[in-house]
Amino acid sequence: KTITGIPLRGMLLGAPGAGKGTQTERIKNYFDITAVSSGNLLRQNIAMNTQVGIIAKEIIERGDLVPDNIMVSLIENELAKIHNQNWLLDGFPRNVEQAQALDRMLENYNCPLNMVVSLDVPQDIIIARITERYVHIPSGRVYNLTYNPPVVPGVDDITGEPLVHRPDDNPDTFRLRLDKYNRITSPLLDYYAKKGVLRTYSGNTSDIIFPQIYNLLSNIFIM
Ligand code: ATP
Ligand code: MG
Repeated sequence: KTITGIPLRGMLLGAPGAGKGTQTERIKNYFDITAVSSGNLLRQNIAMNTQVGIIAKEIIERGDLVPDNIMVSLIENELAKIHNQNWLLDGFPRNVEQAQALDRMLENYNCPLNMVVSLDVPQDIIIARITERYVHIPSGRVYNLTYNPPVVPGVDDITGEPLVHRPDDNPDTFRLRLDKYNRITSPLLDYYAKKGVLRTYSGNTSDIIFPQIYNLLSNIFIM
């Protein structure tokens, strides 16, 4: 429970590879928060060959953004399932149009976003570590061969299932994604700063940033 009784409506904002997925996993280990990751949802849809997955596959592989109408209905569906819980978005919204759609969605629940955390990691550091990233698709768990390698190489710690290197994590596609972030997503920093809900935490690694988020959430939640 939160101290105020108002549920957490949170969102992690950050460049691709900034560690949104890693922070989300760690947050879930300590707090009663349900995470909704747009990238994980899309990758699961691709793995299951759903209609959304079939459309999204090529778009993601070339480093583009999936159309807003698809993303908005995907997220709207997820949020409808968890509207009484504390929740945290990872990867959505990704442009101002999506942010406005989310605002409209939340009007129905009478509870706007109340915590946006920006993960501020130098982009040269992000580029250096991206080729070392592996993911477990069903859970979205993220590993980095240097910073948090799996216990057994190539397999997920919890399930023992195989890890994969994302096809969009190659250097060329990754640069396109970073460029998209800088042009299309980063204006959200201003959008949420103006609403007074933005906090920015800086650091070169997720280990440096996590304690700052933990500290923030400890002040919001009754432990
Ligand atoms: P990371 O996983 O490193 O935190 P990322 O932002 O690059 O960063 P995901 O969030 O997993 O990766 O998204 C992967 C891809 O899925 C994006 O490059 C994009 O094509 C698509 N995608 C995810 N969320 C959205 C969204 N809100 N709008 C449009 N496309 C999206
Ligand atoms: Mg992610």
